[in-house]
Amino acid sequence: MSLSTETSKGVPTPANGSESTTHAFAQMKSETWSVEQSAQTYGINNWGAGYFRINQAGNVAVTPKGTNGPGVDLYELTQELQDRGIRIPIMIRFPDIIKERVHLLHSCFQKAIADHSYKGNYCGVYPIKVNQQRHLVQELVKFGRDVRLGLECGSKPELLVVLSLMNTPNGVIICNGFKDTEYIETALLAQKIGREIIIVVDRKDELKIITETAKKLNMRPKIGFRAKLNTQGAGKWVDSAGARSKFGLTAIEIVEGVEFLKKQNMLDCLELMHYHIGSQVPSIQSIKSSLKEAARFYTELYSLGANLKYIDVGGGLGVDYDGSGHSDSSVNYSEQEYANDIVSTLQTMCDEKNIPHPNIVTESGRALVAHHSVLIFNVMGVNNLFIQEPPAPATKKDPALMQEMQYIYEKMNSENLNECFNDLMQAKTETLNQFTYGVLNLTQRAWCESMFFAIATKMLATAQKTTDSEDIVAELRERLCDTYFCNFSVFQSVPDSWAVGQLFPVMPIHNLKQEPYHEATLADLTCDSDGKIEKFIDTETGEMKKTLRVHPFKEGDAPYYLGVFLTGAYQEILGDLHNLFGDTDAVHISIHESGYTVDHYVPGDTVTEVLTYVQYGRAEMVDSVRQFTEESIAAGNITKQEAKSLIKHYEEGLSGYTYLEEME
Ligand SMILES: *Cc1c(COP(=O)(O)O)cnc(C)c1O
Repeated sequence: MSLSTETSKGVPTPANGSESTTHAFAQMKSETWSVEQSAQTYGINNWGAGYFRINQAGNVAVTPKGTNGPGVDLYELTQELQDRGIRIPIMIRFPDIIKERVHLLHSCFQKAIADHSYKGNYCGVYPIKVNQQRHLVQELVKFGRDVRLGLECGSKPELLVVLSLMNTPNGVIICNGFKDTEYIETALLAQKIGREIIIVVDRKDELKIITETAKKLNMRPKIGFRAKLNTQGAGKWVDSAGARSKFGLTAIEIVEGVEFLKKQNMLDCLELMHYHIGSQVPSIQSIKSSLKEAARFYTELYSLGANLKYIDVGGGLGVDYDGSGHSDSSVNYSEQEYANDIVSTLQTMCDEKNIPHPNIVTESGRALVAHHSVLIFNVMGVNNLFIQEPPAPATKKDPALMQEMQYIYEKMNSENLNECFNDLMQAKTETLNQFTYGVLNLTQRAWCESMFFAIATKMLATAQKTTDSEDIVAELRERLCDTYFCNFSVFQSVPDSWAVGQLFPVMPIHNLKQEPYHEATLADLTCDSDGKIEKFIDTETGEMKKTLRVHPFKEGDAPYYLGVFLTGAYQEILGDLHNLFGDTDAVHISIHESGYTVDHYVPGDTVTEVLTYVQYGRAEMVDSVRQFTEESIAAGNITKQEAKSLIKHYEEGLSGYTYLEEME
């Protein structure tokens, strides 16, 4: 199968206008379809958070400041980026959305503090591990300057990044993660160039290094303690808290730590109490119960004589990936409820013990950056399982199984649906058994498979017109769904979809005035059977489903683009080079009243770059292939012209994109 797509950059032909379909789903196609129905099908108004919607042209629009603010048409943008030579798949980043997120979180806390007459301040800190791309962190620092957004680092390399980017006056830097003397010494020295650095003790051994190094440098360190809470979070990352969690000090270690600091005459350096219960916490109840335990740690530490100023509640603020409000990929609270609950809980618990309200630090990462980027890719081909015409009828000479299937095909009607469905499933199992045991030959097996799909297609059409057949319809739809082969790698661009089964919103970015009346799963370019997306929002039931509603597509049609949304947190850096598919092209787009500007273009990996990671050198590779061709020229197996052509293709391949490029 040729997977190339045609370059066609004019007005798109609506994909389903060009096809006279007669298969089962076509009968479901309604006469009228509206943009609102597409919005309902894909749930975009639920997970889009006002940043994404469908416009009257039937394309997805990006509106960082909400529906009434300026916007850009994602489909037009995708085409115009390609006109500039930027390649599909593209990661499109919208810094305006980050700006909105930073200010949203800040204003939620400001409002909560004002409403409750809370005495402490709020300070957000962005943990760079969530997405360390330089342009992005620079934008965060820039947008965060007026709200004093700080940065968090979780390793030595991240500390070095943070030190090069952070210059917000009084901007807090939180140092987490495993620390050696070098990490600690670097952090302490940075305090001498005016940075507000707090070193969080994640393991008890670190405390001694911090105090000794600080004495050597003749300075007072700012220290935080990370507490190991017993209260478990919830969701996919529950293991971040609890007695067996990787980081944090137990109650015993905290008491010993206080004693130790007292002896060193450094208890006044303990300024912060930190905890982190894991990412994407789906329920506000977990957030509240862990905060209650943490607040007790805070008030107790204070009573033991620590000069605490901050409580750092870590990350965990979730993102509503599916719009359902009740799954692991969703949240049952808003940013404002999150802020209100933190402020009011801390206030109550500190007032009870008559302790001053701490300044609140949050380390929300996902909630700041998830919304800002979208991955766009094109569909290259379809594996269509619908079969209209049954194979040539079986005769008395054919194996019994073939005759049985012929019988099912002919006799099936709305009265005997259930029975025929069971017989069909039985026949499918039998086909495989009989082939394995040598009863059916390959041609006969092929006949049975064709007949299976012919029966299933006919059965689906019948079942859709029959009441009480929902189960059969659902089962057949799943078995008959198309596979859309797509130009991207799950492992590189949405690794959490594979690794932890996270759901991301996926939908076509155009044609949304037409009904998407096919069902498909999406397969990527890798040859890995896990390289697919099979988890989609089902807005009808609020649960998940295995197929996505899509428009019909066949090779040679105008390009059909799908977007995976909310991919800004964790996906880029966790992405890997499975099958040597590298980073995609990425662009930063600013949106304003009169259009948009391309701020940055970050080219994706070339094949040569990806190969260097696995120790291949371009020059040696070309040289080696050249030598092989020389041998063949000498033997008369290839002409010099053909050899030249082979080397040319080889070199161009090495310089090219790792994804499929459109034919020019
Ligand atoms: C990963 C991490 C965060 C970020 O969590 P989000 O859920 O993305 O907000 C914050 N703090 C610590 C210590 C972390 O390890």
